[in-house]
Amino acid sequence: MSPASPFSRAFPPSRWRRLAAAILLAAACRALIPIPAAAQSLDHGRTLAKIAGADPVLATMLELIRIPSPSGHEEKIAGIILKKLRASGAAARRDLFGNIVARIPPSPGYERVTPLMLAAHMDMVPGDKKNPLRPIRPRVLVLNKVEWIASDGTTTLGGDNKAGVAAIVDIAGRLTGKHPAQRVPMKHGPVEIVITREEETTVRGAKELKTTELRSKYALLLDGDKLYEVVWELAGATEVTIRPRGARGGHSGVDIHRRDNVNAIKVMSEIDVRIPQGVVKKNARGVVTSINAGLAEGGTAKNAIAPDAQITYLIRSTDPAEERKLLRAIRAVVSDVERKHRALQKSFRIELETKRLLPPWSANTASPFVKLVQEAANRLSGRKVLPLSIHAGAEANIYANKKNAGGEILQPLLLGVANLHAIHTTKERIAWRSLIRGRDWVLETIRLLAEKGTL
Ligand SMILES: [Zn+2]
Repeated sequence: MSPASPFSRAFPPSRWRRLAAAILLAAACRALIPIPAAAQSLDHGRTLAKIAGADPVLATMLELIRIPSPSGHEEKIAGIILKKLRASGAAARRDLFGNIVARIPPSPGYERVTPLMLAAHMDMVPGDKKNPLRPIRPRVLVLNKVEWIASDGTTTLGGDNKAGVAAIVDIAGRLTGKHPAQRVPMKHGPVEIVITREEETTVRGAKELKTTELRSKYALLLDGDKLYEVVWELAGATEVTIRPRGARGGHSGVDIHRRDNVNAIKVMSEIDVRIPQGVVKKNARGVVTSINAGLAEGGTAKNAIAPDAQITYLIRSTDPAEERKLLRAIRAVVSDVERKHRALQKSFRIELETKRLLPPWSANTASPFVKLVQEAANRLSGRKVLPLSIHAGAEANIYANKKNAGGEILQPLLLGVANLHAIHTTKERIAWRSLIRGRDWVLETIRLLAEKGTL
């Protein structure tokens, strides 16, 4: 437009500047003001696009979230993660079990920095068990002035653990300088990446992982559900199954008068009322040992005296001694009840089987590794991050019992890199801004480690 046109006279340059400023201000306000609840149903697509544009880590997370990946169905998502990691310049491959393992070589001159492993899992708990591959449709939700990404209520969101995977993919690009927002590589030591399968069901990905092929001793598992959470202690899990076996059985009418009848269901109940339910031991950090009766079955028909029954408990404990004490008490109950009923029927017995699903895990809270993540959080946010104990299990329990290539036992820490709510349910949601801060926390940890050199 030439300066002499009538239009430019009506809009002299100063007026143009004011107009442009007003437009920019309006756009900035739009980005800051949360979308009112009434408008939510109007344009999720546009709001999600805006969120994806706020930071590449969010675009990655939204892309990954839209791919259903229930445990055992990880092929599609694995292909996409692998492609992204390779595009970042990481040497990425799949191991025999299908986990993704990748390496990012250190920056020149940083070869002697202590190697660090970043880990997450690619599988998710499906919200619709009958249709686990049901498409996931993210929505935007405003609650207490916080903008969340949720599912449409028919599936879980899968923010557990795609927030962690997205953070790792984003970090990989920033380290190598092959990132849309960071073309200058960040200085860093050796980084190894592990993204497992089947965490939610059996933790098998972590179990099958050949950690002896990895150099890292320290591992950050980006699988917590609160930003700036550092979990240093997780409970182990032991399954206990009790089976009254070999009761004579018989007809509930014609045999019911026999005084030497043993009914397996009644025996199971007799044992169960003597076994505690819930918290068995607590301390200042929280629950130490708990037990839950989770599954029970028995009998063959309502008109038959039950010949067999079975009840399964799950014990969780951070303290192996407390767990042994509880198991001793359970064994004593079982043999007491068995003795009583064998007096009636010699062939009757009660089987007790224990199966260790996960060993307990506690990290050393005074370790330099804990201090490193604390210092990084402090530098970034001024926060004092406190290590937590959680009464559940995760991959950290597995890694803490495995060795690296140098024969050293791995030292994992479980970090929360985003605020997630109601994980594993169809109400799952993620406060999306928190993931930017979580990703920055991990980046700061890597930067700090490169500065220090060794731990
Ligand atoms: Zn998880």
